[in-house]
Amino acid sequence: MSYPKLDIDCFKIHHNAQLIIEQLALKNVSVTPVTKSCLGHPIIARVLIDAGASMLADSRVENIQRMVQGGITVPKMLIRTPMLSQIADVVAYCDITLNTEFQVIQQLSRVAKQLNIKHGVIIMVELGDLREGIMPNDVIGFIRKVILLPNIIIKGIGANFSCRYGVAPDDKNMQLLSDLADGIEATFGITLDIISAGNSSSINWVLDHQGGTRVNNLRVGEAIFLGCVPVEQNQIVGLYTDAITLTAEVIEAKIKPSLPWGHRGANAFGEKENLHDRGIVSQAILALGRQDVCITGLHPPDDMNIVSSSSDHLILETSKTSLIVGKNVQFGLDYSAVLSAMSSSSVHKAFHHDYKINGSRGTIALGSASQDIGPLAQH
Ligand SMILES: *Cc1c(COP(=O)(O)O)cnc(C)c1O
Repeated sequence: MSYPKLDIDCFKIHHNAQLIIEQLALKNVSVTPVTKSCLGHPIIARVLIDAGASMLADSRVENIQRMVQGGITVPKMLIRTPMLSQIADVVAYCDITLNTEFQVIQQLSRVAKQLNIKHGVIIMVELGDLREGIMPNDVIGFIRKVILLPNIIIKGIGANFSCRYGVAPDDKNMQLLSDLADGIEATFGITLDIISAGNSSSINWVLDHQGGTRVNNLRVGEAIFLGCVPVEQNQIVGLYTDAITLTAEVIEAKIKPSLPWGHRGANAFGEKENLHDRGIVSQAILALGRQDVCITGLHPPDDMNIVSSSSDHLILETSKTSLIVGKNVQFGLDYSAVLSAMSSSSVHKAFHHDYKINGSRGTIALGSASQDIGPLAQH
């Protein structure tokens, strides 16, 4: 096995996905797993389907194409507003897209008509986080135009929270989304199948909410892969937080002074830290760098500190464990680290199939087969 290596434990991802799907089903909310953090890898897609997902979502058409080519047949949702330059691929590979621009839906309609297929759209509503979405007062007027477009089916409405400004879902903005759904249905005499009220950060709201709501879908990535919910503390107990780990190899281990000597300028990245003398330290260099992963998103073992990094080197200081050349160090990852390591062609990916996927549920057989995908074989 080569390093740096991302270990992806399919058993844990399956467990997390199944638990979240089941918990939210009790609230009549479906979960559409979001595969963007693993670039739509078909192995992960199969695990998520096996865990009960009936639709998958990704932010990039290339990832969805990869799933299609990998034989994934469940409906697929593109959760970033399509680029006008990619409309043909979007219609070819995605069943549903999240949308906010009339011009884009017009082009989706034109291509869908040429291909004689129907394309589903979910209209995104701005509820305060100020990323994608139509202002609530403009939604009825927007749908009045969209409803006239051939080969477009208005599947529902949606919203996103906690992304740009961290604006959280609450009773007030969720009620507005429900009211808009009712208003659209009454105005146009249509039924909206999907009211998709956000990402992992909406899970706690759904679980806590009492009483009626039109919200019936969430698009969930982080909670499945990292076992935690952004914004607040984790409410679903029993999720694995170590389904994905990164292991790197020590290439130098020395006792050195903590203070550099010689004339000092900025480092290779234009940074100049303020330093103080911490005496003699036990330092190790790992073959891992900014080219491989977003270093600030790594969680080292308890008795180790990440002190610096460059494109290819990570410098750790250890207090208890003494590292030696050839030894491995395993890190936990946050969302930015998972995203960057997954997309890095220099990180090996090992998918651990701890169970057999045969499409039926409840057939988890423990085993330890693993597959090294990569570093360059991931696309
Ligand atoms: C990434 C994304 C999600 C999933 O977010 P998580 O925090 O990973 O659950 C949902 N919806 C949209 C529009 C996204 O871009």
